[in-house]
Amino acid sequence: MKIAILSRAPRAYSTQRLRAAALDRGHDVKVLNTLRFAIDLSSDVPDLQFRGRRLSEYDAIIPRIGNSITYYGTAVVRQFEQMDVYTPNTANGIANSRDKLRANQILSRHGIAMPATAFVRNRADVVPAIERVGGAPVVLKLLEGTQGIGVILAPEIKVAEAIVETLQSARQNVLIQRFIKESRGRDIRALVVGDRVVAAMRRSAKGDEFRSNVHRGGSVEPVALTEEYERTAVRAAQIMGLKVAGVDMLESDEGPLVMEVNSSPGLQGIEEATKLDVAGAIVDYIANQVAFPQIDVRER
Ligand code: ADP
Repeated sequence: MKIAILSRAPRAYSTQRLRAAALDRGHDVKVLNTLRFAIDLSSDVPDLQFRGRRLSEYDAIIPRIGNSITYYGTAVVRQFEQMDVYTPNTANGIANSRDKLRANQILSRHGIAMPATAFVRNRADVVPAIERVGGAPVVLKLLEGTQGIGVILAPEIKVAEAIVETLQSARQNVLIQRFIKESRGRDIRALVVGDRVVAAMRRSAKGDEFRSNVHRGGSVEPVALTEEYERTAVRAAQIMGLKVAGVDMLESDEGPLVMEVNSSPGLQGIEEATKLDVAGAIVDYIANQVAFPQIDVRER
């Protein structure tokens, strides 16, 4: 098949691995810079230009859309969808997963367990919201944060209230979330491809840090997931409309709690931790979907 990886980082580990996996399997593969597409809405049929020329025919794309270009990137992916080019992650799926609040609303509506979360705007509603999710210590999250930046553990209600007010006065949207103490600075990242988990790792925070992000000095180890964790990860990805996703879960006393579903999961950490060929699994899945298209019941 002919496949395009949409990425602005041709030299990044994940892009290189996906490209190599496609080449190994005899596919024709190109890495195309997402921002070099022009969306042409003037013709009768949906069309795309790349670097000023009409794009040739592709069977599939692998979108790797960075946070900073979500809007343009999802527009390009949507255009490919309209041209009937297969994509494992739809524009809607990517957009839903990018917005922590929207993702929370969709997942909770479908019965996925998540840490109790509140979102408020009015000063008077802050303290009742903190109390509703379980009181202090409480986790505060900037809606636009990534890599653990903008995730704060507030020790007391008064401090939490002051932080929320400060952030709101700086025009930042803040989620108020129950602190899952028993997860003890650890979380699970499950890499979902299609309807299965192809690799999973546990991330552990350094020292007394409660955030397990590798960018914050956390360490990783491979982990064998129980069926409950696997099922939760796969369902969360499916509900978000993503066939390739990194699902982050906390290990609570009540079982898995989904924190986030990533639509462009990094492959380096998980492949190094598990020694598994995640890139190969992604390419195999896509090739299979292109050869034997599966109609998604929700799209009929
Ligand atoms: P980001 O998207 O910036 O990585 P996360 O929401 O994943 O932010 O939070 C970063 C880390 O903080 C998580 O990996 C987890 O280790 C920890 N964490 C986040 N939310 C909670 C919570 N409600 N209870 C306990 N730990 C949490």
